[in-house]
Amino acid sequence: MPKSPRPGSITKALRADGVKVGDLDTSATPGYKGAKADGEKLLAERTQVLSDLQEMLYANGRSGDPRSVLLVLQGMDTAGKGGIVRHVIGSVDPQGVDHAAFGVPTAEEKRHHYLWRIRRKLPRGGQIGVFDRSHYEDVLVVRVHDLVAPEVWGKRYDEINKFEAKLVEAGTTIVKVAMFVSLDEQKKRLAQRLERPDKYWKFNPGDIDERAYWPAYQEAYQAMLDRTSTEQAPWHVIPADRKWYARLAVTELLIDALQRLELTWPKAQFDVAEQQRRLADA
Ligand code: ADP
Repeated sequence: MPKSPRPGSITKALRADGVKVGDLDTSATPGYKGAKADGEKLLAERTQVLSDLQEMLYANGRSGDPRSVLLVLQGMDTAGKGGIVRHVIGSVDPQGVDHAAFGVPTAEEKRHHYLWRIRRKLPRGGQIGVFDRSHYEDVLVVRVHDLVAPEVWGKRYDEINKFEAKLVEAGTTIVKVAMFVSLDEQKKRLAQRLERPDKYWKFNPGDIDERAYWPAYQEAYQAMLDRTSTEQAPWHVIPADRKWYARLAVTELLIDALQRLELTWPKAQFDVAEQQRRLADA
């Protein structure tokens, strides 16, 4: 039997309160004492729990429940956002997932407010929305590369908090996840992409240039955590050098978010006994 952590111990250990990005041990496994093999077994079990809860969310959405869950994934290149989408989100029914990835804004997106493209991709009732990068790029890459003036990005933290508060009020549970790998681990992962033809597609020469901006990114991530981890939409910090742990951590966060909705199966909108009689005669 895999070692099971106490319920909630992983999710609690990931809260961003007081985290100093520069001091993070990116190979740690907060809230979980087991090793990789145990962690992977536990992940398989917990994936089933997540999948059942997601089905219930979806079923309620089909019955008109407006509530949804939005997973916001942020992290430097190679932090493993794609792996979370493939392995964690990939394990639930795709009908119930609204996935959106946000890259460099298109010409059309640039003509609009930075939240315009975000609003268009928000999850509908019953869905788990997944943002692979998000509105936070507008206070991360934009800040690091001076893409707009500091007076402009400086106002965005409060604006984002207000935007998210409204979303929460309207029934979306926001699960914000910042994934961190060490500079060394990133080098290893980039090297792998250059060694394996099946990984070339993931390699972007620009990722090497971005490594020079690591301290500036750390500062921008710190400001993001300090200024946008709110009670309604707190950040979670995931040490991501160990992929199995990052996947387990996000699975736990999603399970926790879904459990807090206290979902039940939608009631039948018909008389069950009557339908059973009709079916017997059909
Ligand atoms: P990934 O690198 O995640 O596989 P893409 O190559 O499609 O995905 O695009 C990601 C790139 O887009 C990143 O370098 C990211 O910093 C950049 N990006 C995302 N949002 C913005 C934004 N609002 N302004 C500028 N660049 C952005």
